[in-house]
Amino acid sequence: MMKPTTFRSLVIFLGLCTLGVLWLEGAPLPVLYIFIPMVTLCVLFVLWAVRFCGSCGRSVTNYNPFRRPKACASCGHALK
Ligand SMILES: [Zn+2]
Repeated sequence: MMKPTTFRSLVIFLGLCTLGVLWLEGAPLPVLYIFIPMVTLCVLFVLWAVRFCGSCGRSVTNYNPFRRPKACASCGHALK
């Protein structure tokens, strides 16, 4: 099971890798100007959507901003 801090570092690292690969591939500056906010938004969205249960440590993924889960799906512990 992945720790929340490990997960966040990994998501940010993968976002930076995506931009790094684009830059190394020689993407023109306008392309980078589009991709940097896009990748940043994706990273922020994933960090926002994936939460971790404080009781059992499982990840609770939710991509619907209007229906946030109030409790862990596996143990029922209330999410913050
Ligand atoms: Zn739980």
